[in-house]
Amino acid sequence: MTTLESFVAGSWTAGTGRSFVLENPATGARLAEGKALASAAPAFAWAREKGIPNVRALGYRERAERLGALAKRMFEHREALLDVAVENGGNTRKDAKFDVDGAAAVLAAYAKIGAELPEGNVRPDTEAVPLLKTGKLRAQQVFVPRCGVAVQVNAFNFPAWGMVGKFAVAFLAGMPTIAKPATSTCLLAHRIARLFLDSGLLPEGALQLHLGPAGDLLDHVTGQDVIAFTGSADTGRVVRTHAQVLETGARVNLEADSLNAAILAADVEPGTELYDVVLRDLVTETTQKAGQKCTAFRRILVPAGLVETLQADLCERLSEVAERTGDPARDDVRMGPLTSAAQKTAALQGLARLERAAARVFGDPGRATFVGVPEGAGHFVEPILLRAEPAAVEDPAAPFHHTEVFGPVATILPYDGTVASAARIVALGGGCLQSTLYTNDRAVAAEGIERLGPYLGRLVVDDEKHAGGSIPPGGVLPLVHHGGPGRAGDGSELGGRTGLALYQQRLSVQAGASLLAKTIPPG
Ligand code: NAP
Repeated sequence: MTTLESFVAGSWTAGTGRSFVLENPATGARLAEGKALASAAPAFAWAREKGIPNVRALGYRERAERLGALAKRMFEHREALLDVAVENGGNTRKDAKFDVDGAAAVLAAYAKIGAELPEGNVRPDTEAVPLLKTGKLRAQQVFVPRCGVAVQVNAFNFPAWGMVGKFAVAFLAGMPTIAKPATSTCLLAHRIARLFLDSGLLPEGALQLHLGPAGDLLDHVTGQDVIAFTGSADTGRVVRTHAQVLETGARVNLEADSLNAAILAADVEPGTELYDVVLRDLVTETTQKAGQKCTAFRRILVPAGLVETLQADLCERLSEVAERTGDPARDDVRMGPLTSAAQKTAALQGLARLERAAARVFGDPGRATFVGVPEGAGHFVEPILLRAEPAAVEDPAAPFHHTEVFGPVATILPYDGTVASAARIVALGGGCLQSTLYTNDRAVAAEGIERLGPYLGRLVVDDEKHAGGSIPPGGVLPLVHHGGPGRAGDGSELGGRTGLALYQQRLSVQAGASLLAKTIPPG
């Protein structure tokens, strides 16, 4: 069994604290073990001493080139990385590509963005605006890298995309990273970090890897540091209210959980290409990565008159996946297990809560036999579909507005098909990363943007015209803003160039027009 080490202060370092073991969630085979670090203090000291000056010394363009080279390196080692994602993450090969290729895509996208930034570390945010009638005195907003450490805490479900995506943005922005992957699936993050660190492309201190529990990680932050956290709303609250974080005013960005909605408008009709896209998306979002996606649909709003048809069609499609749920290493398997025993227990507990206000119309949470594994082995849950009691749909206390079952589980909510009702229902979830409106009616789409918008980080609108070219909405693209209000954490990541702002200080420079023109580069 492999022994995992963290990368701290320039070397691979074994922890001395509590042991952790990584397993294959389909078979239970033990894959690797490690020990918690005694303290994160040496990593912070190294990042401040070496990482900050070394990363800044490169400037945007050089950093961008290195990101591009890292993307190539990931591509060269793609097959081996996919194997690790299958083994430790319970991913099918298709799921694994979603994570690994998604990570490389962020690197490549930020390499391209960086190539268009100015030399050095200062970049303009706005044009210079005159402050007085003479026009000589002006103010201009600029961004500069924060003089601290990017502490990046990631969730278990995207060990590649989570770590690489955050690192790419912080590095281009000009900050060194301490990456802390979720423990249960950290084998892939470890492999990628090793690949990056062995590449010789990163200056000393630019990337450190903290494996195992967080321990005292947040005790060392200062006001220049940035904590980029992805995980559950509960852990997010712990991070946000951590004494040292409150004391120092360290910047915190939370990407938390989300009760995303698929909204079928009144004009969606069976037998159309748009209806096929609805079914494709519902199946993909419920079963991809066994439903362990922050952007997956949890609530499916269906006009009352369409519920029976949609439910029957969706059950049929889900049964095809259920039949092929099992060991993700097999080519004939479409859905793998949840990533740990704890995740399965939490998912089944959440499902029991949902069933207080919704009837199960597909799936058996007690199923014990799956493709290619001995009976009872692995942390499997087959796809499950629920249908809400009509009276509960607009009940603010209904569990499907509060409980994120992080597994292949979704609930149909019958509604009257109007945008006004959809917005009220979506709002009960407290803020979502994404929701998707299916309609051919431009007026409905326009109303949706305005009414649904306040509760979402991203609204996907799919119509017949673009059905052929649409992509399932759970994918987070590097040029698109990611993060939703309220319960979803109110964070903001990616979004192309705007994503750099998380790791930078916005500064207004108030000075003479000619000084601004000579000192602030265009860009
Ligand atoms: P989690 O249990 O909240 O853990 C997230 C991360 O926080 C892990 O790395 C965990 O480390 C770490 N952590 C735990 N306690 C901590 C503490 N006191 N201080 C600092 N870090 C601490 O979440 P998860 O189970 O890994 O992930 C599933 C959740 O993440 C779901 O709710 C999902 O919706 C959400 N998610 C959100 C997004 C998004 O972009 N919004 C993306 C993916 C997932 P250990 O693993 O060592 O405990």
